Amino acid sequence: MITTIVARVFLVGFFALLVPTYVSAQDRRPQSVLVLDQSNLRGPFYYQLSSGLREVFDVDGRITVYGENLDLTRFGDAAYEESLKRHLNEKYRDRQIGVIVANGVGTFEHTLRWREELWPGIPIVFAMLEATQLAKLGQVANVTGVAIRNSLADAIKTARAVVPALDTIVLVGDSWDRQSLFRHWGEEIPTATSGLKVIDLVGQKMPEILKRVAELPERSAIVYSGVFSDGAGTYYPPATAMRLIADEANCPIVVGAEPLLAAGAIGGYSLIAKEIGTAAGRLALRVLNGEQAGDIPPVTHESKPLFNWKQMQRWNVSESSLPQQSEIRFREPNLLEQYRWQTMAVAAAILIQAGLIMFLLHERHLRHSAEVESHKRMTELAHVNRQATTGELSSSIAHELNQPLGSILTNAETAELILKSDQPDLEEIREILADIKRDDQRAGEVIRRLRNFLKRTPFETRDVDLNEVMGEAFRFLSVQASARNVALYLQTAPGALRIKGDPIQLQQVILNLVVNAMDAMASIPYGRTVIGRTEWNGGSSVMISISDSGPGIPADKLAQVFDPFFTTKDQGMGIGLSIARTIILAHKGQIWAENQSGGGAAFHFSLPLVA
Ligand code: ADP
Repeated sequence: MITTIVARVFLVGFFALLVPTYVSAQDRRPQSVLVLDQSNLRGPFYYQLSSGLREVFDVDGRITVYGENLDLTRFGDAAYEESLKRHLNEKYRDRQIGVIVANGVGTFEHTLRWREELWPGIPIVFAMLEATQLAKLGQVANVTGVAIRNSLADAIKTARAVVPALDTIVLVGDSWDRQSLFRHWGEEIPTATSGLKVIDLVGQKMPEILKRVAELPERSAIVYSGVFSDGAGTYYPPATAMRLIADEANCPIVVGAEPLLAAGAIGGYSLIAKEIGTAAGRLALRVLNGEQAGDIPPVTHESKPLFNWKQMQRWNVSESSLPQQSEIRFREPNLLEQYRWQTMAVAAAILIQAGLIMFLLHERHLRHSAEVESHKRMTELAHVNRQATTGELSSSIAHELNQPLGSILTNAETAELILKSDQPDLEEIREILADIKRDDQRAGEVIRRLRNFLKRTPFETRDVDLNEVMGEAFRFLSVQASARNVALYLQTAPGALRIKGDPIQLQQVILNLVVNAMDAMASIPYGRTVIGRTEWNGGSSVMISISDSGPGIPADKLAQVFDPFFTTKDQGMGIGLSIARTIILAHKGQIWAENQSGGGAAFHFSLPLVA
């Protein structure tokens, strides 16, 4: 232990040699400070003041800080003062004090009175002397410090800002002579409150104060200077007393010290304890470093307009009615601010999603336009293909028309002969006319079918029976088949096969497949057969097959036959199957080709049934 102390003393001595030479040893005062507080440190104001001081002194680790709470707000009679003086005298008898920091006007007055006796020649740094009090003291030797500027007039100005058409001012606090920060307000009352009603509760006991503040008249504001004692033996830090009063008050409370804000005041021109402490600490440091206190002019701490956001909400006070440059504390972030990142993430997600939806809608629009366009092209191409097919089938069509026309002619001639006889058989004439009518209808039907088939209609789907579509196409092909020596069979599934489709387009697919089958069998001498089938697989689709007894399709060409312009025929265009595939795909179906095990090709397509 002793060795440690010796080592420390040695080190301190060593570092002392390194101190800059511009501050001579005679100028520098003993590196110790005695801080005298008017109140005790239980309340937040003096606590913050003290921490401001310590922040300055702690930077220089060699300064010893002594502290005394004079407790003048609770004890103040002559006997107490005498015993306090004696106590301090004995306690600090053999201590070297470099500077005294006196916090509060009462402390400063006591220190001045005691200086000659207790600390002769020791400089004093005061804190929190109101500017007018300082002026009253006149010239005091070896003193500097931090003056404060805060007035009752500013508190009334605040009250007018927070209570529209202010009518009554209610003064709450300890008696003015006990106040450390607001003593001068007492003298200001007549001028500052002129034109207002004043309810003076200064010095009242706490239960009385609480009762009165709960039933104040409308358009009132409380000006709270600080209650230290309720006169019944209970002592409070003023912030604690403030909280009790704020809970009961029916109007806003204006204050002049920062810590009272958190205790439930609406705000006001406030002294900021920590800043005062720091300023006083800096002055004390200059004195310790050799400057004469009397040569350093006092600095002034201006009170600042501070407000409590929560109390503004409680009393419905808008920001715009506050004095300029007001600072608003305890502002609660709104939901957007509180969940800033989450909100931004959600907004970003919504934006991305919206962008995606827009993109998809645009894509859908493009796809829809492309579909419309491709249907149009398909319709046009299919029309050309139909015209070509009809050209190929023209002999059969002519044949189909010739038959009824021929029998009409024969029947008409027969009727003429009968009419020429003496006693024409009218019954026979009637039968002939009926035949003529039937044949005419047959010819008309052929023409109707042809016209329908050649119509340039846009792609349009409706509810159709696939068996009917198949039957009509096969009837149309029957003459051509017999002309080409082809046996044409149709096997349809029982009942109706309801699908959504364009009957003309579907007939065209069937026609293309059957004509191709007949073409493929041209080279085989006999046994030319085409079988058409409609089958329901028991599920949600139906399958149509056209199979023939031709040579089939070379295995390596099976996939190619549907390609546009693939043909093995001299006069072929190679578009029949590619159109058939386009039509089937437009009907949400599938088409494929295969070779039958017994020989010949088979083309199949499947279509979804109407649910
Ligand atoms: P095109 O009939 O003008 O040649 P298609 O697209 O209708 O055009 O047919 C393409 C090719 O597919 C034909 O040239 C033929 O080689 C082959 N093909 C089509 N149907 C059959 C079939 N039933 N049997 C054998 N080959 C066929």
